[in-house]
Amino acid sequence: MRKNIVAGNWKMNTTLAEGVGLAKDVNEALKGIDAKCDVVICVPFTHLASVAGVIDSSKLGLGAENCADHVKGAYTGEVSAPMVASTGAGYVILGHSERRQYYGETSEILKTKVNLALAENLTPIFCIGEVLEERENGTFLDVVTKQIEEALFDLSAEDFGKLILAYEPVWAIGTGKTATAEQAEEMHAHIRSVIAGKYGNEVAENCSILYGGSCKPSNAKEIFSKPDVDGGLIGGAALDCASFMGIVTAF
Ligand code: PEP
Repeated sequence: MRKNIVAGNWKMNTTLAEGVGLAKDVNEALKGIDAKCDVVICVPFTHLASVAGVIDSSKLGLGAENCADHVKGAYTGEVSAPMVASTGAGYVILGHSERRQYYGETSEILKTKVNLALAENLTPIFCIGEVLEERENGTFLDVVTKQIEEALFDLSAEDFGKLILAYEPVWAIGTGKTATAEQAEEMHAHIRSVIAGKYGNEVAENCSILYGGSCKPSNAKEIFSKPDVDGGLIGGAALDCASFMGIVTAF
């Protein structure tokens, strides 16, 4: 059975002290509740080791927001999957639209990153999603199909089964404009059918597909109630412990 998951993406926010404080707050808040989903925070590279030291990893997962497309060597400023894994992190966001858009990450690069992450037993949270123009011109289902096929369909069924997918319509990220629950469900059901076409129903049914894009406590319950939505990847609202917990407890 697939898991329900709420994952925070802190992006390039918080100093080390602020980030450790926020992680401690989320960790503390989780102690007081019986969460009905897995909870993960994906934090800046600089914070990983320190955050790993203050959270209970049995209740709160830790991830990076990216990793390099090489294992080691002369790649100044890059951080590799083995380095991420060595901090105690278990997850890594890959293919976020901000990485695709601002840092030129192509499906080819992402394919390499996914393989390197899996080799370190990191769970990729792999992001896909269309831009506004593609939503408006009606090509959004095809765009997302292509993103999945190009970056992920060389994986074995076993490796594909280790991924978490996150559908993040780019027009909804950080804009306050959320996809309706119906729009999310349409895409999530489509993604599941694309997976089923390649790997079969069992792999498709077991794949957790998260929604991301201006998700907040006020809309999470409705979005998460859809049968193919298995949780959320949360940006802005993950930077405030009460808001993030408001989304966690939407399950
Ligand atoms: C994200 O960037 O992954 C995201 C979903 O951001 P926001 O929740 O701020 O739209």
